[in-house]
Amino acid sequence: MRIPKSIVIGGRTYTVEMRDREKDDGLQKCATVNFVWQKIWIDNKTHRELQETSFLHEIIEVINEQNGLKLEHDTIVQLEGALFPALKTLEGDVPEACKVCVVREGGTV
Ligand SMILES: [Zn+2]
Repeated sequence: MRIPKSIVIGGRTYTVEMRDREKDDGLQKCATVNFVWQKIWIDNKTHRELQETSFLHEIIEVINEQNGLKLEHDTIVQLEGALFPALKTLEGDVPEACKVCVVREGGTV
């Protein structure tokens, strides 16, 4: 999944910044979002797949906040986990865990 420098979510432009978590006390997780500054930060040292799934997670966080959905954090994590392999498959980049399913259904890996 490509991580762009900015992304429009619900009509608002969020900038995306890769940061070194070890050098930045403000970034305590692999990724975080600030709704007021409309910024998403992602740790530039973590594994690429974790960066991508964390980016998707923050997008869902923004949708949750903007629309007042009041989703529990566990629900956001579940949506992230369900959507990530689907989006990767759409990109033609099937995650390891999904390859068995694709082969069984006669698709290409
Ligand atoms: Zn979260």
